[in-house]
Amino acid sequence: MRRLSGFGGYPRVDCHVWPLTESLHDLREVFHDAPLTPRGLGRSYGDAALPAIGGLVLETTACDAWLDFDETRGIVRAQAGISLRAMLPRLVAAGWFFPVTPGTQDVTLGGALAANVHGKNHHRSGAISGFVERLTVLTERGEQECGPATQSELFRATLGGFGATGLIREATLRLRPIETAWIDVRSLRGTNLEEVLKLLDTASDDEEYSIAWIDTSAPRRQLGRGWALLGRHVRADELSPRLQPSRLRLPRRRAWRVPQWLPGGGLNRATAWAFNAWQYHGPRRQRTLTPLTDWFYPLDGVVDWNRLYGTQGFVQYHCVLPHERDAVRGIGRLLEALAHAGASSFVAGLKSMSRDEVLLPFAQPGYTFGVDLSRRLPGLTELLPTMDRIVLEHGGRVALSKDARLAPDVFRQMYPEFSHWRSVVRHWCPASRFRSRLAERLQW
Ligand SMILES: Cc1cc2nc3c(=O)[nH]c(=O)nc-3n(C[C@H](O)[C@H](O)[C@H](O)COP(=O)(O)OP(=O)(O)OC[C@H]3O[C@@H](n4cnc5c(N)ncnc54)[C@H](O)[C@@H]3O)c2cc1C
Repeated sequence: MRRLSGFGGYPRVDCHVWPLTESLHDLREVFHDAPLTPRGLGRSYGDAALPAIGGLVLETTACDAWLDFDETRGIVRAQAGISLRAMLPRLVAAGWFFPVTPGTQDVTLGGALAANVHGKNHHRSGAISGFVERLTVLTERGEQECGPATQSELFRATLGGFGATGLIREATLRLRPIETAWIDVRSLRGTNLEEVLKLLDTASDDEEYSIAWIDTSAPRRQLGRGWALLGRHVRADELSPRLQPSRLRLPRRRAWRVPQWLPGGGLNRATAWAFNAWQYHGPRRQRTLTPLTDWFYPLDGVVDWNRLYGTQGFVQYHCVLPHERDAVRGIGRLLEALAHAGASSFVAGLKSMSRDEVLLPFAQPGYTFGVDLSRRLPGLTELLPTMDRIVLEHGGRVALSKDARLAPDVFRQMYPEFSHWRSVVRHWCPASRFRSRLAERLQW
């Protein structure tokens, strides 16, 4: 028995955990017929990696072997429990990088695929699903190989399927080449939402990555002000002679650790206001040569920073709004709702998105907006449904990898592809053995 939660610390459940070893090739090896929930490093924020009631968690992190790495073609095959952190030094040293990466290295390959993660390059490259060549999935019907052209419905239902089709055991991923472990970052300040979004669009052809930090403590007339950050991989010939010998080495990074969930919580409106004012007004170089890990994984600099929110935890509200339904106005309305509720946050960001090519897609051409909110915020229970309504009115959807509270009817309105995806899931798992708390809550 263990007490588990997602990264947001809510909900918390006491449950049975089975640390998987390589031997699980057949579900008949799981002796009773409890619902099963695969779990990687538990970095989904809500209940995606928590078990359904009476269920068993299959913890994958011990199944973390490299199986093959073709350094010439940039193709890697590994067991799903391996973490991006464990893979990174070897990939980078060989001149390769993940084609798409989330904002932390502390996720497993299987967790990243089950959530079909997106990165700062979604508008150019799409989600990680576009770079997967092959999966081995343990379904209720047994172990199955699938890929874009083999059992493609299972493949496209598993990527972004949050473990509902079964346990991803192995995956083969196509990498992207890099010449150095450095990123050239441009930082541009915008005094309101429209300006920040325009700055995101000024990215040049080789500035593949972009993201905006939004100041949620801004005064009303400057709602949506923040910084647009644009990044590109640095070429070998651009590095100084001093950095040349270590051009593909990741720098050592000192990380702080928050030892426990702070009982009262260290983050409140006043600290958010001070932090945001410093972020927005503080000195920032317009152009910097940044180590790759600092650019992609800034939050990994403070280990377990989520504990700063205190024992009640926090929720991340993360949504996408499509251009065709006035995404800019929609984000403006979300910011107004946050300001009206007196909510300000340390982590609020915007990204430009294209379409996800899986059966249960999150992204659409438009913008994502994500904001962390303490569960101690007065009025949170009214604020979140208000935000859902705005998202629905603008044809958007909430990200399931961050969600802990969406209602099933709202989910169905946001995800009209659900019934087709579920029919594929049912084909491979007719008894719904693979069921998480998220699946139970959303009535999959
Ligand atoms: C600081 C931070 C930044 C983040 N940034 C981003 C971002 O930029 N973009 C983004 O898309 N996401 C982002 N995320 C979310 C994160 O990438 C996903 O939640 C990812 O799924 C976490 O991987 P995990 O190994 O921790 O999976 P878990 O949280 O353990 O599991 C996530 C889901 O995957 C399923 N699963 C896990 N392993 C398997 C398997 N082997 N087979 C089948 N199903 C499996 C689980 O059942 C669950 O439904 C971020 C999270 C954090 C904490």
